[in-house]
Amino acid sequence: MTKSLFFLAILFTVACQAQPSKSSRNNNNNAKTTTMVTDTSDLSKMSDEGWKKKLSPEEYRVLRAHGTERPYTGEYDQHWEAGTYVCKGCGTALFTSDTKFDAGCGWPSFYEGMDKSKIKEVVDRSFGMTRTEVRCATCDGHLGHVFDDGPNPTGLRYCINSVSLGFEKK
Ligand SMILES: [Zn+2]
Repeated sequence: MTKSLFFLAILFTVACQAQPSKSSRNNNNNAKTTTMVTDTSDLSKMSDEGWKKKLSPEEYRVLRAHGTERPYTGEYDQHWEAGTYVCKGCGTALFTSDTKFDAGCGWPSFYEGMDKSKIKEVVDRSFGMTRTEVRCATCDGHLGHVFDDGPNPTGLRYCINSVSLGFEKK
């Protein structure tokens, strides 16, 4: 009698201990699934038709077809509010107003990206020139070009189309 009670007690303890560890394993699995199915992974696989639906015709022309907006026409060329400039395609934070300067070229210009890993550089040999194109590393959207005639402290000038950007006020 005592022996069987002892066994029952052990079984009960084991069952109680198994429950939380099982549910915590499930939580981990759920967390992994959530991380994998993010907007980012969806956007990198987005079809051309999908982008046409998501973006305005001008945004599509610049971000997806590597166009350039006409200088001095963009929303952010002469925009000096404090905040963060994000990719219009996917919302990734790319530049901060602290690094924006007036290059006089007609496009918003920055001397530095917020996080180098978020901006992809691609050699662009179009129009008989060799330039460095910059794209959003997350959604591969065309942003503009980077030149080495910028101000201190980097000497870089990220010349970005306004239409490729969104703005989040500080
Ligand atoms: Zn993007």
